[in-house]
Amino acid sequence: MMNQDLRIKELEQELERKDQEIQSLNHMNKRLSNSIDELKDEVYKYEDLVHSSNSLIAIFMGKDYIIDVANESIRDVWGKGHNVIGKPLLEVLPELRKQGIDDLLDQVYNTGIPYHADEVPVELVINGIPEIRYFDFTYQPQKNQKGEIIGVADIATDVTKQALLNKKVRENEYRYRELIHSSNSLIAILRGKEMVIEIANNAIKSVWGKGNDVEGKPLFEILPEMIGQGMPELFNEVYETGEPHFAQEKPLLHKKDGEMKLGYFDFVYQPQRNIHNQIDGVAVIAQDVTQQGILNKKVRESEKEFRELVNFMPHKISMSSATGEPVFYNNSWVTYTGKNAENLLENSWQSLIHPDDRERTEQMGEKVLATGQDLEMELRIFDKNGSPKWHLFRATAIKNEEGEITSWISSCTEIHKLKEEEQRKDDFLKLVSHELKTPVTSIKGYVQLLLSMIPKEEEEKENNKKLPVRPYLNRMEIQIERLIRLISEMLDLSRIEQKELQLKKEYFKLNEHVEQIIEDISYSNRDVQIELQHQDQSEVFADKDRIGQVIINFVTNALKYSPEGNRVIIKIFEGKNAHVGVSVRDFGIGIAKKEQKKIFKRFYRIAGNKDYTYAGFGIGLYLSNEIIKRHKGRIYLDSQIGKGSEFTFTLPKQKTK
Ligand code: ADP
Repeated sequence: MMNQDLRIKELEQELERKDQEIQSLNHMNKRLSNSIDELKDEVYKYEDLVHSSNSLIAIFMGKDYIIDVANESIRDVWGKGHNVIGKPLLEVLPELRKQGIDDLLDQVYNTGIPYHADEVPVELVINGIPEIRYFDFTYQPQKNQKGEIIGVADIATDVTKQALLNKKVRENEYRYRELIHSSNSLIAILRGKEMVIEIANNAIKSVWGKGNDVEGKPLFEILPEMIGQGMPELFNEVYETGEPHFAQEKPLLHKKDGEMKLGYFDFVYQPQRNIHNQIDGVAVIAQDVTQQGILNKKVRESEKEFRELVNFMPHKISMSSATGEPVFYNNSWVTYTGKNAENLLENSWQSLIHPDDRERTEQMGEKVLATGQDLEMELRIFDKNGSPKWHLFRATAIKNEEGEITSWISSCTEIHKLKEEEQRKDDFLKLVSHELKTPVTSIKGYVQLLLSMIPKEEEEKENNKKLPVRPYLNRMEIQIERLIRLISEMLDLSRIEQKELQLKKEYFKLNEHVEQIIEDISYSNRDVQIELQHQDQSEVFADKDRIGQVIINFVTNALKYSPEGNRVIIKIFEGKNAHVGVSVRDFGIGIAKKEQKKIFKRFYRIAGNKDYTYAGFGIGLYLSNEIIKRHKGRIYLDSQIGKGSEFTFTLPKQKTK
């Protein structure tokens, strides 16, 4: 019994245990089914994640890389439609083979080592069209529970856009570096406050002369000689302020091949900014202008020397622009006028000149500015006390190689004393001529009276043998004529000087007048040969006596300066623009070119013309020139030494204003 009870108890206990076991199995079963549900959820979530991901995801199984998973994104990129699952990858995308992708997959499959690469270009045939795309991708080996490799997962990102952009940036940078390196300008780009050389082109490296290997080093470590020359301060200023710095022909000492050399540079220091607009460097763009700099220095030095020389001179020297605007006055000007150089330049030059001389000076100035001829004239300039002093003003044009006027240089020499003496002389001459005129005229009268009183030549033949009165009286008359002409020339001269020469103009027949003059001259010079050619018959409106005076002067000179012959040809011809011309040609000693302008000046006589042979005072041509000028005519000369001369004047036929 005992045993039976025990057995029952044991069974009951067993039953209870089984019950408990069933209960816990039930519990486990419930948990398991929950877990399966959860797992299902997980798989679902994972699949959803794979399929909805923007990343390109695929799993290839086995050595044939059968496509087991391929999300929508990767299928789009492949461009081979939807139906790819279960097919071998390299059959779907045969284009991968020639690009070595198959080898890459094999490598991962065989070694189990994942493979990652960025921006790999892959040519895909998308919907029939070949196209290069760029990918960042990872090939991840897939293992089973035993750790054996059963496939490869491909997780990739299409970075085509960014890769193309990067490529462009790289190309641009390449081009920009090429540009810098191939430029003749000296270019360097310095980074940071320490001015680390990021780029330095060959041109700048060669000027620095510190070898090729300078990139990555701070500028002033490479060029310590610049430190004492204010360059670090300049760089810092550009770096701090962001204001570029421009310099022209800056002299810089730099050490090249162990030697200190002076060079001149045009340069700009340009601040460099990063994309946040913060300054992160300085670009140096420079030109080596050493040769030009040395030349300009020499020019400046010689200009300085020239200025000093000019300032040292007692003459008043000034310079003007091509258009006649003064740009420089020397010290003598400053001393004479009592005005400083700026003052002189600020005020008009006209204010320095006596009002009576201004118009004439302006006219002459305009004329030479237009023609580029030299200018020489006399004018009065006010001194520091405001009193006008006579000066001889001369200006000459400075021309460049092309013959264009670049500036004018002028000198002014004081001739006031000379002028005063001249004036005194003029006054004296005037006085003497005046005083002489009356007695000489009356002597002439008496000679003529005496000539008329003595018997006629033929009747007197016998008497003449004893006392040749008539020939002596005739000679006296000729000499008195000359004396009278001289006196009246002197008087004319002072009239011109005092602006008192009056013209009495009238209409007269020029040809007749010339004929009359020739007759008179031939009367007192018996053996002359004067030929007259009337090529124009003309009436003119002019002062008959004065024009006669010019013709007489031309003809008497022609005879006087032809010691070996007496042939003179006078031509009356039609000139241009309603003018008539009269020319007097001789075959005498002629006039050298350099004298031809001067002989029209007062008292000018050609030196060496043996004054004793050719009597005269050098007034005749001066008067002739003044008379013709006052008639608005022209006077000119054509002459060759030893061959003879031709003096010509022209006159307007009609009244002029
Ligand atoms: P003058 O004859 O009284 O010296 P002019 O004024 O008439 O003065 O002439 C000035 C100078 O010009 C003369 O001294 C002479 O040297 C030169 N001259 C003038 N006419 C002639 C000429 N026909 N041939 C050569 N020389 C001349």
